[in-house]
Amino acid sequence: MASLSLRGIYKTYTGGFTAVKDFNLEIEDKEFIIFVGPSGCGKSTTLRMIAGLEEITEGELYIGDKLMNDVVPKDRDIAMVFQNYALYPHMTVFENMAFGLKLRKTPKDEIKKKVIEAAQILGIEHLLDRKPKALSGGQRQRVALGRAIVRSPKVFLMDEPLSNLDAKLRVQMRTEIGKIHKKLQTTFIYVTHDQTEAMTMGTRIVVMKDGIIQQVDSPSNLYQYPCNMFVAGFIGSPQMNFLNVTVDCASNGTYLKCGDFSIKLPEGKGGRSEIKQYNGKEVIMGIRPEDIYDDPAFISSVPDCCSKVNIELVEMMGAETYLYFKIAGNDFTARVNPRSTARHGDTVTVALDANKIHLFDKDTENIIS
Ligand code: ATP
Repeated sequence: MASLSLRGIYKTYTGGFTAVKDFNLEIEDKEFIIFVGPSGCGKSTTLRMIAGLEEITEGELYIGDKLMNDVVPKDRDIAMVFQNYALYPHMTVFENMAFGLKLRKTPKDEIKKKVIEAAQILGIEHLLDRKPKALSGGQRQRVALGRAIVRSPKVFLMDEPLSNLDAKLRVQMRTEIGKIHKKLQTTFIYVTHDQTEAMTMGTRIVVMKDGIIQQVDSPSNLYQYPCNMFVAGFIGSPQMNFLNVTVDCASNGTYLKCGDFSIKLPEGKGGRSEIKQYNGKEVIMGIRPEDIYDDPAFISSVPDCCSKVNIELVEMMGAETYLYFKIAGNDFTARVNPRSTARHGDTVTVALDANKIHLFDKDTENIIS
């Protein structure tokens, strides 16, 4: 069983800096889980503690039902793939992949069988006699994966393994790694700072900030139900629009207001007690770019949710168009239909889908509704 249990884990480096704080997570056997967050949030530190490359300051790490805190890396049955591949330049692909097994005194026949099997999974059988310098970035990355696969570890740890590849290859390798996970049926823990990579690869994502877990959820739940402003802003591209607004619970409904901007919340949302308690107070409104419309049919259906804006920039992406403008002095982006006729300099009406609005507490930045 390669389930992992991280219980109340802290990492304080010499010098006193605490990089990981009270990290609690249960990882299921055969799961593909992603740690994502901005640079310096403690993703690699957590991964290195799991690998045994970094001492755990406080807390407990279990793999299966075995406490691992004091177990040396080589006895943890874990393989780690790094972003720089760390291949031996003077060895062939075969020798690179066989190296770990050789050290373990695995019989020659078995080494050959395992290397060939792994090479088949990765589609690199034809490269086994080459040296790393004669490989492309993607091929090198496959060899690094192969070196981990031959060891048949219980857990794969990957630290930004695709960051040295160009954009196209990165997208291709994401799919490959997903397929490899399915074939190997082992636990994968994958670290990235790239939210798109996290959203496309993981079945469960751990979002971190400043050494603290913010939310652990499926990609769609993170996107639809972010627990706070940080997650809401970090997940999604272009990112969610934010605006400080005042809640006004009037006799004919609940409004969000900021300067000339005013929007009426739908009955079901505006009538909720968790929103009403903010009556007269400032909250932060969040709305995703795709929940803002410029087409007349939608606009006429929601007269209480419209705003006149001046288009500052139009980006035509092909399948969609981005409109940039300001609402109450704040930058907004709308992701609209590519048939939109809005052009730079136009004054147009945009409508916000008030059902899709997220509201955050101004002090805690936690979700209200
Ligand atoms: P990145 O995406 O840039 O790799 P990360 O989320 O993986 O970032 P870590 O490498 O885990 O972040 O680092 C977390 C914090 O701990 C950072 O502020 C980093 O400067 C600090 N840190 C890392 N290693 C050490 C060390 N050996 N001594 C002191 N501080 C460290």
